[in-house]
This record gives sequence, structure tokens and C-alpha cells, in this order.
Amino acid sequence: MEILDLFKESEAVLEGHFLLSSGRHSQKYIQCERLMQYPDRAQRVVSVVADKVKNLDFDVIVGPAMGGIRAAYELGRQLNIRTIFTERVDNKMTLRRGFEIRPNEKILIMEDVVTTAKSSLETAAVLEALGGQVIGIACLVDRKVSRIDLPIYSAMELYFETYDQNDCPECKKGSQAIKPGSRIIFNE
Ligand code: ZN
Repeated sequence: MEILDLFKESEAVLEGHFLLSSGRHSQKYIQCERLMQYPDRAQRVVSVVADKVKNLDFDVIVGPAMGGIRAAYELGRQLNIRTIFTERVDNKMTLRRGFEIRPNEKILIMEDVVTTAKSSLETAAVLEALGGQVIGIACLVDRKVSRIDLPIYSAMELYFETYDQNDCPECKKGSQAIKPGSRIIFNE
């Protein structure tokens, strides 16, 4: 089965009128946690990433909270590599819970979705300030928006159109964009 079909079967590809974290609007949204709730599908999708990164040289996997936590854990489990996570404290990405980056440790960041890579790059900056070296960003879905210097290793690439509020076809129809992940979607 295609990776995209696994997402669709998990109802992880949502259609509607969404306000993305970038501020842009979209008619589609991918909610990876809806796939990740099924261990067999999580295993299957992450194995595609594992195959792409298994010969790279890295010591630790870091998954930025929340979306990166389960994806990173599953990747670490498959490759048997130490896996930790960062989280936001007062909106600043932070390494807590006694997790540490050892001097010159090579790091692979694992995300759910990479769009603008804003949180990945913020995570990378924090980890490098602690003495680590980020060698790349792995993810379940690469939305093909980012142009960044780090290599991206994804299970799937998925492009969909996003719109400025003024050009959004759904806004023109008069509907209200909702933040994905808000309760509204799941009560529909
Ligand atoms: Zn809109």
C-alpha cells in the first residue's frame, strides 16, 4: 500500500478550510497523529524514513514536541538509537527532563511534518548551542515548502496549495478558517 493511502485510511488527510500556523489558509491539512495512533501504520511509515537514514552517521534523534515525539520514538526504536525530545517553555524550544547533548554529538531531528521548518531550525539552533551538530531533518511528511540547507529525509512528499487570506477560495465562499487540531474538526 502507498504511504499516502495509509494516511488517508487513518483519516489523517483532512479537507476543509484551515488556518495554518504560517497564517496562510489551506483546503487540506495533514494530521499525522491520526496515523500515529495505529502502531502498525506508524511502524510502516517510519520504516521508510529508517531506510533512508540508517546508513547516516548520527548518535541521537531529537523530536520537537508535540508532533515530533512519537515519530522520533518510533524511528529510534527501529534503529535502536537514543531518542530524546525538546519542548516549548514560555514559547522557547528547550531541552529538559535531564536530557542532554554530549559534546560534538551528531543529531538527527525527527518531525511529523516539515512545512516552513521553523520549529526544526529553532530546535537545531538550540541543540547546536549545546554543542551538538545537526546532520539533517527527518519527517513523516515533507510539505515541500522549505528551502533550507539541511537535508530532509521524509516518508512522503505532499504538496498542497496554501493561500493568503485575500486569495483564499474558501474565504471567498464566506466560510471561516479554523485552526486544525482544534476540537471542531474532530466533532464534525
Ligand atoms: Zn480562507
